[in-house]
Amino acid sequence: MPRRTKIVATLGPATDEPHVLDDMIKAGMDVVRVNFSHGDPDEHIQRAENVRNRSRAFGHQVGVIADLQGPKIRVGCFRGGRIILNKDDHFILDASLDINAGTQEHVGLTYRGLPDDVNRGDTLLLDDGRLVLWVEDVNGAEVRCRVVVGGELSNNKGINRQGGGLSAAAITDKDRSDIELAAKMDVDYVAVSFPRSADDINLARELLHNAGGYGGIVAKIERAEALEALEEIIEAADVVMIARGDLGVEIGDAELPAVQKRIIKIARSLDRVVITATQMMQSMIESPIPTRAEVFDVANAVIDGTDAVMLSAETSTGMYPARVIEAMDRICAGAERQRSTQASERRTNIRFRRADEAIAKATMYTANSLGVKAIAALTESGATPLWMSRIRSGIPIYALTRHVETRRKVTLYRGVYPVSFDVTSTIHAEVNREAIDELMRRGAVRDGDLVIITKGDLMGVHGGTNAMKIIKVGEHEIVEG
Ligand code: PGA
Ligand code: MN
Repeated sequence: MPRRTKIVATLGPATDEPHVLDDMIKAGMDVVRVNFSHGDPDEHIQRAENVRNRSRAFGHQVGVIADLQGPKIRVGCFRGGRIILNKDDHFILDASLDINAGTQEHVGLTYRGLPDDVNRGDTLLLDDGRLVLWVEDVNGAEVRCRVVVGGELSNNKGINRQGGGLSAAAITDKDRSDIELAAKMDVDYVAVSFPRSADDINLARELLHNAGGYGGIVAKIERAEALEALEEIIEAADVVMIARGDLGVEIGDAELPAVQKRIIKIARSLDRVVITATQMMQSMIESPIPTRAEVFDVANAVIDGTDAVMLSAETSTGMYPARVIEAMDRICAGAERQRSTQASERRTNIRFRRADEAIAKATMYTANSLGVKAIAALTESGATPLWMSRIRSGIPIYALTRHVETRRKVTLYRGVYPVSFDVTSTIHAEVNREAIDELMRRGAVRDGDLVIITKGDLMGVHGGTNAMKIIKVGEHEIVEG
């Protein structure tokens, strides 16, 4: 049985060696994240191109997510690279200071609006919460703070306000030009950082389409405000990312586990895809094996029903980019073998909006109840396999499609595997036989197994799926469904 949960790996300096990338693909990487917070356009273009070339060489489809930087608020640089802040020190965040002129007394900011957004009594968290500052006073461009928890502060570290409430717009000028770059790179997904509402997602989609891009939109849930508009943001997006790093800083780490479970549940029930991200295998940045806590974290996300688990610094700058994927592969597969991860929750009181949706869900109901070995969904846009994968099941769903864009998009869907298959060059009567032959070549089914095929009368048409067939491999005996 192939692993169902998908693995997203962030590219970076540690993954640039060709043999490293090859090892990552061999270890089972499904999707890469190109992080627009670091590096320059040429680097991003080169990395995405390398991945596609190597994934073609291995015959393993790999999707590409371009992750926009968004309005991440950071301190500027220090003259000496870093300072040490001690408890009760006074320290000023100064929006008017030169971005490179930081000292022991003050530092510049990437976001000029910060002094307007904070007040005396606010708590600011720096470097993912490692340092804590208390705002004593705001004076013009200066946010004057007292250090509550000290430590080392180095160049470009992030700033969050506890409880959220910073008003920076989600799509910055840099993001606008990066969306054009993403369109040029033909990425499969664009991730929007720090969205606050569905409008932010809709704007990103519009900008991407205007730039000629076709990718889906990922909403990163990483602000306290996003939780208040959770359903509308998820509905507006194709994919939601539980961005546990920034989100945990804003709402407090203790809230995260419950929020993760809630987001996964809502995303699945709204027929959206969900990625669980950040610090899943953190210790493997420097260690060849994960901690027990990390094993449980990854396994629990699988049991919660996530589509994908993500690696950040573990692959982009870590010492073991391929080994960490091997470990994740093993842990996901182990978690999937538990029965509880496969049981489908029956949803009886919902109304289908479309015939293809009804076919997709009826297929899963039938497949789960009849002991079907595999499902072959002949698809144009990937909508049918997406609906299928929203129903929990241990049965592999093969997305047979002639469109490479669709094959790349489904790399993120739990339990869905892309297969190149051109219905337009196949004789109508031969489609079933060829689809089954394809599954047999992959070792997915053998003689005597039951398979369900879904397709449309008019093949090669979007939204055209209107039929399911139950077929016994070998006999080609057909039971009308
Ligand atoms: P990032 O987003 O890695 O781009 O910061 C994920 C997170 O905040 O968890
Ligand atoms: Mn983040």
